[in-house]
Amino acid sequence: MKKHNFNAGPSILPRVAIENTAKAVLDLNGIGMSILEISHRSKDFQAIMDEAVALFKELLHIPEGYQVLFLGGGASLQFCMIPFNMLNKKAAYLETGVWAKKAAKEAKFFGDVNIVATSSDKNFSYIPKGYAIPTDADYFHITTNNTIYGTEIHTDIDSPVNLVADMSSDILSRPVDVSKYAMIYGGAQKNLGPAGVTFVIVREDILGKVERPIPTMLDYRTHIKEGSMFNTPPCLPIFTVKETLKWIKELGGVAEMQKINIAKANLLYNAIDSSKMFTGTAEKESRSLMNICFVMKDEYKDKEDAFMEFAKNNGMVGIKGHRSVGGFRASTYNALPKESVEALIQCMKDFESQNS
Ligand SMILES: *Cc1c(COP(=O)(O)O)cnc(C)c1O
Repeated sequence: MKKHNFNAGPSILPRVAIENTAKAVLDLNGIGMSILEISHRSKDFQAIMDEAVALFKELLHIPEGYQVLFLGGGASLQFCMIPFNMLNKKAAYLETGVWAKKAAKEAKFFGDVNIVATSSDKNFSYIPKGYAIPTDADYFHITTNNTIYGTEIHTDIDSPVNLVADMSSDILSRPVDVSKYAMIYGGAQKNLGPAGVTFVIVREDILGKVERPIPTMLDYRTHIKEGSMFNTPPCLPIFTVKETLKWIKELGGVAEMQKINIAKANLLYNAIDSSKMFTGTAEKESRSLMNICFVMKDEYKDKEDAFMEFAKNNGMVGIKGHRSVGGFRASTYNALPKESVEALIQCMKDFESQNS
C-alpha cells in the first residue's frame, strides 16, 4: 500500500533528492567512488558544498554580508552557540513552545534572558502579539514555526535589535526577507535533508562583539573562515540538501513553494473546520502551514485510538500528535505531495461517516 509520510522530522524528502543521493552513494558522478569514501577536501566534494551554498543564497535572495554555513550539532547546539557568540548582557526571547524554551535555557548560561511574551497559558496554541522588544537587548530570538503545536509566524517581523530565528521546520517554505534577520538557523531534517546537518545564515558584522573567549569549534568565525570545513562536515547530508535545493529551484523557487504549501494546508484546515468530529488545536491566525494539529471533539474523544488505527491501515504514517498536545499532527512539509493531503482527508471523511 502507498504510504503517506506525515512524519514531523526526520520527514519526507523529494523523491528525486533521495534517488540522486542513492546514486551518489554508489558512484558519485561516475568517478568510480562513493560520496561516502571521498575526502571532504577533494574538488568533487568542494563542488557539492559550493553548489549547496550558492543555491541557498539564490533561493532566499541572501544579501551581501551574510554567510551560509553547514555545521554539525543540530539546531540544539545553536541554542548554545548563539548566546556564546552574541550575548553580552541581555537577550530577549519569544516563548512559543518547547524549542523556544530550550533555546532560552541555554542563553541563561551567558547573561540575562528577558522572555518578552509567552503563549504557555494556552499550551502554546497561538503566537503572542503586542509585546515590546527591549532595545537594550543584544538580540531577539524567535522560533518561526512551532513544530509541536502547529503555530507559525508567517511574516518577517520588525525588530529594533538583531533578530535571530530558529527556522528548523519552515525554512524554504516561503520567501523570507533575510535582511531583517541577523541570523537564521535550523536542523535540516524537517524540510531540507536528512538529520546530521544544520544550516546557519549569519550576518558577519554581528560577530566578534562579545568579550568572552569562545572555544574554536563554537565560534562562527572559525566556520566562516574555513568554509564550513574547519572539521569534517556531514558530507552526505549536505549532498542531499543540495539535491533538495535543486528540486525547489526547478519547481520555481520559494514563492512557488509557498503557493503549493498554502493550497495543501487550506485543503486540510478546511476539512478539519467543516468536520463534525475533528477540530484544530491552534488559533486560526497562528496556524502553521507545515504542521497541522487537530484532535477529536470532546464527544468523540474516545474514538481517537480507533482513528489512529484506521488511518494507519489506510497508509497514513506519522500522524500521531506530540504527547504534549495529543490527538493528531499532519506535517505537510515542502516535499509532501498534495495527493497525500487528499488521501488523509478522504480517510477522515470515511472514518467520520462510519462512526457517527
Ligand atoms: C526539531 C526542532 C529543533 C531541534 O533540532 P535538532 O536538530 O534535533 O537539535 C529545534 N527547533 C525546532 C523548531 C524544531 O522543529
